[in-house]
Amino acid sequence: MTQPEPLPRVAFIGLGNMGTPMASRLVAAGYPVVGFDLAPAARDQLVAAGGAVAETAAAAAEGAGVVILMLPNSDIVESVLADGAMLEALRAGRTTIVDMSSSEPLRTRALADRLGERGLTLVDAPVSGGVTGATGGSLTIMVGASDDDAAELDPLLSVLGRTVHAGAVGAGHAAKALNNLLSATHLWVTSEAVIAGERFGIEPAVLLSIFNGSSGRSGSTENKWPNFILNEAYNSGFGLRLMLKDMKIAVGLSEELGLPTLLGSDAVQLWSEVAEAYPAGADHTEVARWLRERSEGSTVMAE
Ligand code: NAD
Repeated sequence: MTQPEPLPRVAFIGLGNMGTPMASRLVAAGYPVVGFDLAPAARDQLVAAGGAVAETAAAAAEGAGVVILMLPNSDIVESVLADGAMLEALRAGRTTIVDMSSSEPLRTRALADRLGERGLTLVDAPVSGGVTGATGGSLTIMVGASDDDAAELDPLLSVLGRTVHAGAVGAGHAAKALNNLLSATHLWVTSEAVIAGERFGIEPAVLLSIFNGSSGRSGSTENKWPNFILNEAYNSGFGLRLMLKDMKIAVGLSEELGLPTLLGSDAVQLWSEVAEAYPAGADHTEVARWLRERSEGSTVMAE
């Protein structure tokens, strides 16, 4: 009888709101996981879930078959991978680097080319589905990779959610940013609509149930408003500035492609205004609070 292939050792860099539950799922599925995060408290969470941690990203990557990055942005991804000790730890031809962060697609392509010159493979596999999806293994994972690399990673990524092979390297990051431009724009206009309905005398919960049975439904009407905004918790676990970063990536990509970005640019401007008014750690659902507060000061002109 042939023995099944042993599961590859996984280095997991970035154990924040998303990284911790994702790394914990891999541990629970039997993958040997060594994690690293700059924040000691984040490392402790992985240990509590049964994983191992290292003192540096390079030490976590030592001997790993797959290095997963779940970091805030392209700047940080590039700096982690540019580190000399990290480059030494990555074994040419034997380590696949998977950037699951929401990074910039054109920078991802350039980074994959640079790493390719060293015999290293970088693929992108950003996700949608938030902390709930990360915890429950129901993320949508947008893979940018060659057919062979996508197929090889599929068993591991399937522990975290449903994979969709978007195209070549960078395609996952492009799809992710474009998705979040939609998501942010929906959330904004849903908030304006709910506030208008409320002023007219329709209960927000009633209006949302109408939207959810009608053509106006979206993730904002089905999930964000009912679960994080109606209850005034504003605790979805996805930061306002991370959303704004993704919107800027999407609009920037369209500009690079020579396309007009009319609504997208306006949405970036509106979200930027809220980001300036709210603290660094604010949740992205706080845009609804900002709109609510603004609406409280506004009255009918004829009054
Ligand atoms: P987060 O801010 O909660 O976590 C990021 C983690 O990276 C932090 O724990 C931080 O300490 C760590 N970090 C920063 N620099 C580091 C470095 N140089 N080395 C090691 N660790 C470092 O962010 P998150 O919400 O987990 O999001 C991570 C990525 O996933 C982002 O790109 C985000 O846009 C994307 N994303 C988030 C969500 C969500 O709902 N939170 C959903 C989909 C995608």
